[in-house]
Amino acid sequence: MNTEAYRQLDREHHLHPFTDFKALGEEGSRIVTHAKGVYIHDSEGHRILDAMAGLWCVNLGYGREELVEAATVQLRELPYYNNFFKSTHPPAVKLAEALCRLAPSHMNRVFFTGSGSEANDTVLRMVRRYWTLEGKPDKQWVIARENSYHGSTVAGMSLGGMAPMHAQGGPTVPKIAHVRQPYWFGEGRLGEGGDGEERRFGPEAFGRECAAALEAKIQELGEENVAAFIAEPLQGAGGAIIPPASYWPAVKEVLARYNVLLVMDEVICGFGRLGEWFGSVYYDLEPDLMSIAKGLSSGYLPIGGVLVGDRVAETLIERGGEFVHGFTYSGHPVCAAVALKNLELMQAEGIVERVREDIGPYLFERWTTLAEHPLVGEARSLGLVGALELVADKTHGKRFAKDLAVGNLCRDISFDLGLVMRSVGDTMIISPPLVITRAEIDELVRLAGAALDETA
Ligand code: PLP
Repeated sequence: MNTEAYRQLDREHHLHPFTDFKALGEEGSRIVTHAKGVYIHDSEGHRILDAMAGLWCVNLGYGREELVEAATVQLRELPYYNNFFKSTHPPAVKLAEALCRLAPSHMNRVFFTGSGSEANDTVLRMVRRYWTLEGKPDKQWVIARENSYHGSTVAGMSLGGMAPMHAQGGPTVPKIAHVRQPYWFGEGRLGEGGDGEERRFGPEAFGRECAAALEAKIQELGEENVAAFIAEPLQGAGGAIIPPASYWPAVKEVLARYNVLLVMDEVICGFGRLGEWFGSVYYDLEPDLMSIAKGLSSGYLPIGGVLVGDRVAETLIERGGEFVHGFTYSGHPVCAAVALKNLELMQAEGIVERVREDIGPYLFERWTTLAEHPLVGEARSLGLVGALELVADKTHGKRFAKDLAVGNLCRDISFDLGLVMRSVGDTMIISPPLVITRAEIDELVRLAGAALDETA
């Protein structure tokens, strides 16, 4: 393959997501050609351990013939038909049933979408519609968290709390507010500005403080105006932020007190990432709605959805009339067939239990040894998500100056060494395929250590 020719065409015609177009034009792309298991291969013959499972999605790893077969069979049988009005098809129905069986027992309906962003758009419309049908049309505000990611559509980015996205986004969807994220290392331990000004209290008090910030926001907006709170069980794209143990129980209490719906964005945490089918189960939450995507099909084909709890579903069904919302690819038959096969394989291979009982604890044991590195202020992991906080001064936990872009440097070095890690500022994150072996985790940790050495 002529790598340079591809690079040139890419430069001339292809605008990449989340990319500085000009800088990419100067540097040129890495061209990934094929993949197997946990490894991707590029056009220059490198084999790279993909510790991000693509974008947190290739949970069963690359090259699963069973998924290819499921897609091929369905493509021949019925490559497309929609689920609008009275129509449906076997893959959508079977997938809906399988998902509701795996979901918490109060969730018995699913609305399909083509992606996680579309799922969160759907959530926004559903919660506002729910309260209107309940005779509380003023309950329109949705509260999310700062530095959260809920997608790139206008509603997704509005729900998300990513400051750089808001800065470029133009007018956002009205009546969405953001509250403090439970990011102990970055905003608790390091102080609000990450300036090394350590708080006098520990992570548990900080977790309760973040829940209190949610309560204060509900009071400020007025309980009668607040529809829902949306959050990931553990913030993924924000930096693999594991909330203090005190956080979710305190949030749960607040939401119950003010009659505010809970929406869990399970786009990353769903389907085994935290060692349960859903992150909500790990944190003992009973969400009213859950957004899903990514791991639903192990990323082989695009599909997402919203799992709807009985409380909201009953109102939408009994009193709602037509729900005027949906996508051409809602419940696409080929995507649904692959997702169904993906769930069957996960069950047959005990993937979720494996993450919980074996490979998750093993990653924790190995990954946290990196905390000893002079560049690392904290190494954390839960299930198969991990993060390293890079710091300039380990003793006082001081960050590097932002313009040094140390995280990006470490990311690029690790890629050159044969490991995909992602950087969020100076937080390095991993989210490997759930089928990763112990030996591959050893290799991952060795390569991450080598990347840290070279970055230092
Ligand atoms: N929600 C979360 C938590 C995500 O991480 C993502 C994507 O990274 C999305 C929503 C958006 O999903 P998609 O990119 O499929 O639209």
